[in-house]
Amino acid sequence: MSEPQSQQVWRFAPSPNGLLHLGHAYSALRNFDGARRSGGRFLLRIEDIDAGRSRPEFETAIYEDLAWLGLEWEEPVRRQSGHLGEYALALDGLRNRGVVYPCFCTRGEIARAIEGQPDWPRDPDGAPLYPGTCKRMGRERREAFLMEGRHAARRIDMPDACARLEQTLGWREFGEGTEGRDVRAEPQVWGDAIVARRDVPTSYHLAVVVDDALQGVTDVARGMDLFHATSVHRLLQSLLDLPAPNYRHHRLILDAHGGKLSKSRGSKTLRDLRAEGATPADIRRMVGLPAG
Ligand code: GLU
Repeated sequence: MSEPQSQQVWRFAPSPNGLLHLGHAYSALRNFDGARRSGGRFLLRIEDIDAGRSRPEFETAIYEDLAWLGLEWEEPVRRQSGHLGEYALALDGLRNRGVVYPCFCTRGEIARAIEGQPDWPRDPDGAPLYPGTCKRMGRERREAFLMEGRHAARRIDMPDACARLEQTLGWREFGEGTEGRDVRAEPQVWGDAIVARRDVPTSYHLAVVVDDALQGVTDVARGMDLFHATSVHRLLQSLLDLPAPNYRHHRLILDAHGGKLSKSRGSKTLRDLRAEGATPADIRRMVGLPAG
């Protein structure tokens, strides 16, 4: 007897910090279509760990806009803010492997530490790599800071974590197409990245790998802007013994000037387009997808 083919699980994971625009529509539809074509499942996940930027009205708008587009997703929807304990456990897992350390630095302190060094290396998002101040801190001082109740982020000791890898890390990348290629992960380009912020016991990177694993996600379609982040995700998956989904980093939908769509640049939201009379079929055409 042949093995039953396991069902694919796709997901769209927006952050409720603004109204959805065409770029979100493209991502959501790619995942929804991928699930539907393969007879798989489609999940919606609300990535709301950033309490300062997440707003309930944006979450409501996400549900409304996606339903208008014709998407259907499984209930209940996973909201990251309800799962902080699971991320804390994963952080413990990293701590037990001895690959994270507390960091008390503010952004200003980091900027001062690298002042006058214009060639200081930067990560793929353009932020300066962490200069390692708190990694070099003596144990007693570190413990005293923690005892005093000083808030600390947790950073991964990247050289150490990479040195523990038993095999070369990579992932299967499908881009826009159906042919996969192997991509080599390069987490070291992020330096000692933050895996848990000061205010929440997690970060985008940690929460996303924990969720994808707990939800059994097999396929992730998301924008090219997250391509390099996947290297950190693969490292965390490897350290925490979590499976790696297939990744499909897709083209970004740009505005008429070739810029990234964003609220701050005055890009039209799906609601604006809808108010102007666009239909869900028009939205599919606008992002270059065939009729649903
Ligand atoms: N929440 C992220 C965003 O809205 C997407 C995360 C992901 O797809 O991995 O940009």
